[in-house]
Amino acid sequence: MKIDESVDNINRKALEKEISLLMQKLYPICRSITGNGFRETVRILQEYISLSVHEIPTGTKVFDWEVPKEWNIRDAYIKNSKGVKIVDFKENNLHVMSYSVPVRAKMSLEELQKNLFTLPDYPDWIPYKTSYYNETWGFCISYNQFKSLTDDIYDVCIDSTIENGCLTYGEYYCKGETSDEILISCHACHPSLCNDNVSGLSLVALLGKILQSVSLRYSYRIIIIPGTIGSITWLAKNQLSLARIKHGLVVNNVGDNGELTYKRSRIGDAEIDKVTEHVLRNSGLSFNIVDFSPYGYDERQYCSPGINLPVGSLQRTPHGQYPEYHTSADNLDFVLPENVFDSLLQYLNVCKILENNKRYINEKPYCEPQLGSRGLYDTSAAPSSVVVDKMALLWVLNLSDGTHSLLDISERSGIKFDLIKTASDALMQKELLSEYID
Ligand code: ZN
Repeated sequence: MKIDESVDNINRKALEKEISLLMQKLYPICRSITGNGFRETVRILQEYISLSVHEIPTGTKVFDWEVPKEWNIRDAYIKNSKGVKIVDFKENNLHVMSYSVPVRAKMSLEELQKNLFTLPDYPDWIPYKTSYYNETWGFCISYNQFKSLTDDIYDVCIDSTIENGCLTYGEYYCKGETSDEILISCHACHPSLCNDNVSGLSLVALLGKILQSVSLRYSYRIIIIPGTIGSITWLAKNQLSLARIKHGLVVNNVGDNGELTYKRSRIGDAEIDKVTEHVLRNSGLSFNIVDFSPYGYDERQYCSPGINLPVGSLQRTPHGQYPEYHTSADNLDFVLPENVFDSLLQYLNVCKILENNKRYINEKPYCEPQLGSRGLYDTSAAPSSVVVDKMALLWVLNLSDGTHSLLDISERSGIKFDLIKTASDALMQKELLSEYID
């Protein structure tokens, strides 16, 4: 089956249900940039796509960085002097700052407060904090709970380890007709946060599942990596084969209620930029397009000057631009499966156009070829849909000089891509077109 057919017959209800179930499975796991939570996440995603697991040892040099020690946590809590747990990692894994060093101590309120983090502007929410590259510890609690703490001697426990180990990432390769690749990258290093990044993980799992069920022109590579250090590690390991990547997208924040946002690649007018912008303009959904900037997610690494891949990012509300971002309010209630589905559909539409966006040569460019004698030109008073087809035929013939892709023709003529594609198929069948090969 072609991807076009698969997208046309997509079952919204069934996919929304699958997205919802997967998000519920992934949400409770305590993930970080390394460790068993990340491995468990990859294992769950392997139920959808055949991800291979890569383990890169601590200390491995990756460009200007080094793979960090592995962090794992079993338990953490704060007990008051009566032995009552007032903060419990097992109730919410955001309570412990990611990469906290192990602690076992009794301390006064004053001492404890130095290691407590809150969000005074949103007094019921727990913030998400990390300390990847500093040896420290901390607890994150709601501001309301912080205010209610009384003078006491607290029993503080973080049962964690930071040891030599590995950085884990998952990689799925779906082979197409050509070795040219489309890269889909998703970070998987956040604990119980749903829009950032459980929504993205669900999207890529289902995208991969659909891609492996259709015949493809491009090969697809989906990578599930820890943010920043993961993409740096992956790029360092694959530096010699990056030329095969022709287009790419970074997936994040795909389930909130905000409008779709496309962040362009550093190149700015690469094919992926043109295709994604076209898809959004034709989606019927509200959207926003922003230029590249060297901040955000892993596009920062893919678009660093020495790498400079045509990789953009298709998301909904960008990081930091919604109050729930990096707090306990980014939960399963905040993310709607129907929003993730709508985002997934745009990813599929981007793949669909990339798969079909070829260039052709008009084999009879000296004046118009006779379409009537080939059964392509209905001269009777035709309904308007046929007239559009006729215009699509004429536009494809006129612009098929090897320099215009089908998307260029669609944009210039204002005719939907699908109709342009149908016209080019009809003209190919009558040998009026041939595929242009660089
Ligand atoms: Zn984040």
